[in-house]
Amino acid sequence: MQIYAIPVLDDNYVWIIEGDNRQCAVVDLGEAEPVIAAIASRGLVPQAILLTHHHWDHTAGIQAFLSRYPVPVIGPATEAQTWVTDPKRDGDAFTVAGVGDFRVLTSPGHTLGHIVFLTEGAAFTGDTLFSAGCGRLFEGTAAQMLHSLDRIATLPDDTLIYCGHEYTADSLRFAQHAEPDNPAIRARVAEVAKVRQDGRPTVPTTLALEKKTNPFLRIREPGLREAVIHYASASSITDEEAFGIVRRWKDDFDGLKPL
Ligand code: ZN
Ligand code: FE
Repeated sequence: MQIYAIPVLDDNYVWIIEGDNRQCAVVDLGEAEPVIAAIASRGLVPQAILLTHHHWDHTAGIQAFLSRYPVPVIGPATEAQTWVTDPKRDGDAFTVAGVGDFRVLTSPGHTLGHIVFLTEGAAFTGDTLFSAGCGRLFEGTAAQMLHSLDRIATLPDDTLIYCGHEYTADSLRFAQHAEPDNPAIRARVAEVAKVRQDGRPTVPTTLALEKKTNPFLRIREPGLREAVIHYASASSITDEEAFGIVRRWKDDFDGLKPL
């Protein structure tokens, strides 16, 4: 299995998962043309679209793609029903012929029906877990998103995280603001600057690296917890409250950029 990124729109990634005999699956489809071009130039045969959630920047290319390659759309059971032909729920397992075996984890928070796809040491996390960040809470609650990320965090540390956006450099600015003394964040900032300078994607990342650098996986770390309590001028807070405060803190820090 070979996995590679096709950059689409401003900062979205479509992931192509290629099996041994040129069959492939495509994860999310914000735009069709660059993906169709990549598939045609490699002589690939698409078997399925895997869809993480309903937002337009993950679905806008589906129609054009389907008119060229009429494949099933495997996606959330509770949203994006315009597109989803094979609805999946938490714990469902399925095989994409010639590509691989997959398992589904529901991950409400960014949207209520969002799902994550797991296969062979890889997690396609859509807009749930980003490198150094997480999706904004458009539909779900902080408690739901925390629970979703906690479940992802139980995967093996060497799991490769393939997310839906190239947000890493921006996300790290907040991570460093929240934890200025974290050496792993400092190292990642330098690494990401170099990778972006070379025009390469900063993802996949690993779960191990995210645990060291992603504030949304670190709300129970004493240093960050103290900073959160200070930011909120609170005395004691629950994990859910800490998570919600970090999420709002980042939104404030970012000046509420779209998506
Ligand atoms: Zn989204
Ligand atoms: Fe998105």
